[in-house]
Amino acid sequence: MAALKQLLLGKQKELLALESIGNKESKTVELDQTCVGRVSRMDALQGQAMALESQRRRELELRYIAAALQRMDQGDFGCCLECGEAIRYERLEYNPAVPLCITCASAAENP
Ligand SMILES: [Zn+2]
Repeated sequence: MAALKQLLLGKQKELLALESIGNKESKTVELDQTCVGRVSRMDALQGQAMALESQRRRELELRYIAAALQRMDQGDFGCCLECGEAIRYERLEYNPAVPLCITCASAAENP
């Protein structure tokens, strides 16, 4: 459990660091849009879309991590948010921020 918390905190720190780099990157893209030519503008827009997408994914993961840390403090960490069953340790070890057990997660992915 303590190991998992360390893992979560480490990941959170990593994501926050990436986020500050990402913010710098999207600012650079905005500046690049003033470049001449349609192609470079297209590239800039595509780059910006990709930056936004990875930013969106980071934010989602950060939210999961924050929620997992909160559940740890409340003492109900490791229980599936959907069915309340304990999530397998191997699954948590792989990604401690997962909110659902494997059954509910696959049900959510393939309704
Ligand atoms: Zn479940």
